[in-house]
Formats: sequence, structure tokens, C-alpha cells
Amino acid sequence: MDYRKKFVVEPGKKVHLNKIDPLYTGKHESHAQAMPKIQEHLENMDKMQYLLYADGGQSLLVVLQALDAAGKDGVVRHLFSGMNPQGTSVFGFKQPSKEEAAHDFLWRAHQHAPGKGELVIFNRSHYEDVLVVRVHKLVEKGVWSKRYDLINDFEKMLSSNGTRILKFFLHISPDEQLSRFKQRLDDPARNWKISDADYSERELWPEYTQAYEDALELTSTPYAPWYVIPANHKWFRNLAISEIVADTMSEMGLKLPPAHVDMEDIRSKYHAAEEKQAGKKSGKIDVESKKNKKSKSKA
Ligand code: ATP
Ligand code: MG
Repeated sequence: MDYRKKFVVEPGKKVHLNKIDPLYTGKHESHAQAMPKIQEHLENMDKMQYLLYADGGQSLLVVLQALDAAGKDGVVRHLFSGMNPQGTSVFGFKQPSKEEAAHDFLWRAHQHAPGKGELVIFNRSHYEDVLVVRVHKLVEKGVWSKRYDLINDFEKMLSSNGTRILKFFLHISPDEQLSRFKQRLDDPARNWKISDADYSERELWPEYTQAYEDALELTSTPYAPWYVIPANHKWFRNLAISEIVADTMSEMGLKLPPAHVDMEDIRSKYHAAEEKQAGKKSGKIDVESKKNKKSKSKA
């Protein structure tokens, strides 16, 4: 199944989230059944990230957006933990600091965007400035409504500088959110995740849905597509995202760079070093065996 085709938001196309089934799992029936595929995608991602880093000419930005408890942290943990920490990082967008708030809304996103060879995950992102900011009326409509074009221009600029951009909206149902809130309540290991705002934000579900639908419609572009991922089943969410990331990376034309030294010259240096090392070892053995003989004759 090509999940990129299935879940992509066509540029400019109106999105109706209530028509997308958050329980969708395609022909897969269980986690166990999907496991080998997930594993295969994770291994591919690991190989590709090694190439991305070695190649050093491009970068990858993965944007994760969702309502509370939809699984952004889970995606980060499950899908990206197998990768080499060198060259990968995650940046979480919290309420802007004083310094961040003093700049334009794209300033912090730009600062944390990946450099060449890097893979960066945004856990929430510059999209908060047309989501939470719009829903809570933190700025006027005249301000946030201009941001869609600004975001498109910003992402186009990153893209023309060699950054591939993949944006995922994790789509869960209100029921599923509530059952995850219950898990957070019942499981002491998850209590720390609870925030007061979880419940007040939940009340704003229709407003967030509207804000998400507009963002998805207005900012899904060929150079920075949005994917709406059915995410009630965590394993299916992991399967779909890992496949989309692995497929995208394998089309980036990543290559190991050629050696930047004269290989013949280095090979002959290696052989010389090997001979010298072997000489040192046999010299050491001679000395050792003489020592041993001496101490034996004394005894
Ligand atoms: P979880 O989904 O597990 O609860 P989280 O991403 O909500 O994790 P928190 O630390 O609970 O993490 O929340 C960060 C908060 O910061 C979110 O409520 C988010 O909407 C808010 N935020 C992010 N960017 C902005 C912004 N530009 N303006 C205002 N609030 C923002
Ligand atoms: Mg939260």
C-alpha cells in the first residue's frame, strides 16, 4: 500500500476530518501482523539516516502535529529512537519564551530547522501559530490569516535549500483521547503527563478541528505535504509514518560520498604500519620470553 498517496492532503483540497476514520488499519488486523513491516521500515530509516548524514547535501524535517494525547511523543520514541543520535534531533514547541515571542513567529522554527545532513523532528511546530493562537484568539484574525502564505513561503525556502519536509497530523477520535486521559490517570508512570489544559482544550475540539482543516488545506504543498494519519491504533500510526518516512528518504538520492584521500597511498601507509606493529609485537615476545627464562632459572 502506498500510504503517501492514501493519506496525503492534495494541495488546496478541503479536508473534512470527520470523514476520515481514525480507526483505519487497512488490510492489517493486528500489531503482531504489522510488526515485520514496521521493523523493515525502521531498519531502512536507520540506513537512510546514515546516508543522509554521510552525504551531507540535504536534510529532512518531520513535523508532528496533533491534539493532546494523540501520540506525538510515541512517534518520536518508537520511530526515531533506533537512529544514530549523531545528526538527529527533536525540538518541542512549547509556549514561546520571552525572547521567542519578541521575534516573528517563524524565528524559532528557522533556528531549529535542520542543517545539511541532519534530520530534525518538530514536536508541535510553527503551525501552533495558526492553531492554538487562532483558537485562543491570542492575535487578531488579520494577523493569523496572513500566516498560511508566510508558512508556505518559509517552507518553500527551506525546500529550495535542500530540506525535504514531511508533515503529519495524528488523527484520533474524542473517545480515544478520553481513554488515553484515563490511562494517564490510572497509571502512576503516566501521571506526570497530565495537564489541566488537557480538559479545557478538549472542550475546544470543534474549534481545533476547524483550525486544523484550514491549515491542512492551505499549507499542503508538493514541497511540504501534509499527511492525515489515522492514529487511534498506535501500531497503525507507527506503520504508516515509518513507511512514508522510509519511502521518502529512499527517493532522496542519498549517496555515500567518495573518499577524500588517495586510497592507494593510504593502503600502502596501512601496510607499512601493519608491518611495524608486527615487528614491535615479535620484539616484545622475545623480551618477555627472555625475562621468563631468567626468572625460572633463579627459582
Ligand atoms: P502532550 O501532547 O503529551 O500533552 P504537549 O505537546 O501538549 O504534549 P505540553 O508541554 O503539554 O506538551 O504543551 C506545550 C503547549 O505549548 C501546548 O499546549 C501548545 O499549544 C503550546 N504552544 C506551542 N506553541 C505555542 C505558541 N506559538 N503560542 C502559544 N502556545 C503555544
Ligand atoms: Mg499537553
